[in-house]
Amino acid sequence: MVIEKLKKAEEVLWLNPKLTTYKNADLHCNLTELDIKDAEERLRRFAPFIMKAFPETLKSGGIIESELKEINGMKNSLSENIKGNMLLKMDANLPIAGSVKARGGIYEVLKHTEDLALENGLITLESDYSVLYDKKDFFKNYSVQVGSTGNLGMSIGIMSAAIGYNAIVHMSADAKQWKKDLLRSHGVTVFEYEGDYSAAVKEGRKKSDADPMSYFVDDENSQNLFLGYSVAAGRTKKQLDEMEINVDSEHPLFVYVPCGVGGAPGGVTFGMKEIFGDNVHVFFAEPTEAPCMVLGMATGKHSEISVQDIGLSGKTDADGLAVGRASGFVGKVMEEILSGIATCEDYRLYDYMRMLLNSENTFIEPSSCAAFHTPYLLFNSGEGKKYLEKHNLTDKLENSTHIVWSTGGKLVPDEIRKAYINTYLK
Ligand SMILES: *Cc1c(COP(=O)(O)O)cnc(C)c1O
Repeated sequence: MVIEKLKKAEEVLWLNPKLTTYKNADLHCNLTELDIKDAEERLRRFAPFIMKAFPETLKSGGIIESELKEINGMKNSLSENIKGNMLLKMDANLPIAGSVKARGGIYEVLKHTEDLALENGLITLESDYSVLYDKKDFFKNYSVQVGSTGNLGMSIGIMSAAIGYNAIVHMSADAKQWKKDLLRSHGVTVFEYEGDYSAAVKEGRKKSDADPMSYFVDDENSQNLFLGYSVAAGRTKKQLDEMEINVDSEHPLFVYVPCGVGGAPGGVTFGMKEIFGDNVHVFFAEPTEAPCMVLGMATGKHSEISVQDIGLSGKTDADGLAVGRASGFVGKVMEEILSGIATCEDYRLYDYMRMLLNSENTFIEPSSCAAFHTPYLLFNSGEGKKYLEKHNLTDKLENSTHIVWSTGGKLVPDEIRKAYINTYLK
């Protein structure tokens, strides 16, 4: 039934029928909290390098992290039916890449860099990694390549170029011109393709596989990327503690994350579930023209089905979410732990963007704004009501916390911001 609505590009709130308790959930992978910890420690080892290469991170000691801020003004504008506290996770302002990709993308480049540097005796695990700042003569012999709709390319490209790699980004047709220009200004090679994201990934992989000195970042299957994102959860828990916000069976936490191929929201979900178990309810947000994750999960076909297979275009103003085929790896990990997915029409992206600007004086890019429609539907639809009742949440909502994950925006040039603000699709 949900598939019929998806085909017609109608908005849905899909509730995951396979959701079970975290203890009983089969994650279809071997990842554990130890892997998240390992990723966190690796990022800490690289902090001295990051401070040196990106002085904007000096004040956070080389840790790439974003603010968690209260946005109850936005909550009130969104819907008077939404109960509890609403917070915005400001990954839109993450240093270096200005999007959530500064987590997974940068982590994967650093992981590959550490592997190469250890193998070649440039460092030991105990070294001060800032020495890697002066090893461009070594790293220039190696390439890093990635296929991207834009933001992943920016995070991989900017970090790879800073280390000294020959960085190559394969961009899909929907990638924004300013993102290509910015990358080229960092010395990154940008290839452009007529096709969509999958076509860019395919070409990128082919070129990289033909070169033994090249490393390909595989957004559709990479566990490293996923782990880089998952580190966000522990840090967010610390911020909630500092704000004296409890999460327990009487104080439920809801998290809403925009979804493209699935790595970023999937990694965040895995981390959140590891920490909060059944007290956290995670929902994804997708555009009605590119609902690849809900399509993959609802049919059980995961990466074996694309939105084009059901007659959708895959084209959306949410360029960061313009993905026609979900990650099979992530879809399977989410199979029993994700609460649901809501889809959102493009015109709302701009309306929510303006609403956030007016209520909180905060700018985030349109892709990111898809996340606001999910709490709206949770509190204003029959399906939403069903979820809240089924999980005995109805009488706990006054004590609930809602984290909307803003995933991009800081690097959007002023003139593009102005154009967004003046865009009305309906
Ligand atoms: C990439 C991206 C996402 C989603 O991440 P995926 O790993 O592709 O699911 C969400 N919002 C923005 C702005 C992005 O760039």
